[in-house]
Amino acid sequence: MGKGAGQAAWGRARRPGWPLAPIGIMPLPHRREFLSRTVFLTLLVCKLYGQNQPVPAGNAGVTPKYDLLVRGGRIIDPAQGLSADADVAIHQGKVARIAAGIAESEARQVLDARKMIVTPGLVDVHVHVYDGVAPLGIPADPNCIAKGATTVVDAGSAGAHTFPGFRQYVIRVVETRVYALLNISVVGQSTLSDGNPFGELLDLRYANAKLAIRTIEQNRDVILGVKIRLSKNIAGENDLRALAIAREAADAVRLPLMAHIGGTFSPLPKILAMMKPGDLVTHSYHGHEGGILDGRDRVLPEVRRAVENGILLDVGHGAGSFSFRTAEKAFAQGVLPGTISSDVHQGNVNGPVYDLATTLSKFLHLGINLEEVIRRATSNPAKALAFPPGTGSLREGTAADVAVFELREAPWDMADSMGEKRQGKWRLKPVAALKAGRPYGNSVIPVYG
Ligand SMILES: [Zn+2]
Repeated sequence: MGKGAGQAAWGRARRPGWPLAPIGIMPLPHRREFLSRTVFLTLLVCKLYGQNQPVPAGNAGVTPKYDLLVRGGRIIDPAQGLSADADVAIHQGKVARIAAGIAESEARQVLDARKMIVTPGLVDVHVHVYDGVAPLGIPADPNCIAKGATTVVDAGSAGAHTFPGFRQYVIRVVETRVYALLNISVVGQSTLSDGNPFGELLDLRYANAKLAIRTIEQNRDVILGVKIRLSKNIAGENDLRALAIAREAADAVRLPLMAHIGGTFSPLPKILAMMKPGDLVTHSYHGHEGGILDGRDRVLPEVRRAVENGILLDVGHGAGSFSFRTAEKAFAQGVLPGTISSDVHQGNVNGPVYDLATTLSKFLHLGINLEEVIRRATSNPAKALAFPPGTGSLREGTAADVAVFELREAPWDMADSMGEKRQGKWRLKPVAALKAGRPYGNSVIPVYG
């Protein structure tokens, strides 16, 4: 935190009507009231000026202290408990100072973020970016960093046999910081497509703990856990046996296991019984059989127990894995997600998912306040997996990965994965993203709508 004069002016201060609610559910009337008082831009002004003029007039001859100033935005950094109007000064790729009222003359460049939301670069723990190998893969950069998700986790697109290519041709070359959960099947997600609806665990011989362990040990800097998909079209009746193999691999390398649920042969309580604290369940709010609700829409006691025991509920919206109805019922019973991820892939990138920001906007509609939504896509995922220190926060001294959003107030139709519609009032629109202090692209990102 900055030691400047501006510090006292913001600290943990909040704007009235924008509480940083510990529970995460903000009563709707308050939120509406807040939003009606907030100003929304219809036109984005994102200036990078002075690029060829190191210092503004009046300061000629003075070397600016900072390379870039993100000026005037509403900083939301749950890792530091911050939600306040302030400036982010960046120097040599790192966050140098956060304070209100940092003079523009102190920086070589200024990114005007007034009336914008400024967050740590978002962390999406469930995407598919093995473009060209997993049929559902999409290119990382236009769909991740360009949309504010500077750090993402590819959730099982690659298995032991296909991971070297993922490292070589994706992780190494893209701008987005890409990590992976290794699929317990050696073939990863290369088999399943619309034209070939046969998943990677229908033949259990492809589930190979030994090769998974070896691949993880060789790539610990980028593989953060093990992934398994358990739906019937992917694992058939093998789900629990495959899960045991994934369990063996995850335990051997002491990393978390992410299990994709929904439409499974075995009931969810049997799957949860094999999971451990620190593991993640993804597609937690899906609308198919094998979900978190019982026949009378009550959250299963086994799900509550799992959450109490430290198993994390991840969203993983996806093409078939998020239901407004399930989320509404579960939220009413106090069962919120630990992380909000998109599961963005070929089958949903053109709707209903689009990107992580759109997924987050759906949770605003569901009654989670903005700070708590951002927490679930920054500090919470940062805690869930072993990213490098500083990921998901704007702490001084950490790599300056920053996302800038417009929080636009306008009715918009949103759909879940079941084809159900809701009308949203607010939408986070990605505006700019910085990776280690450098703007990605031209920093003015055209978005739909
Ligand atoms: Zn997925």
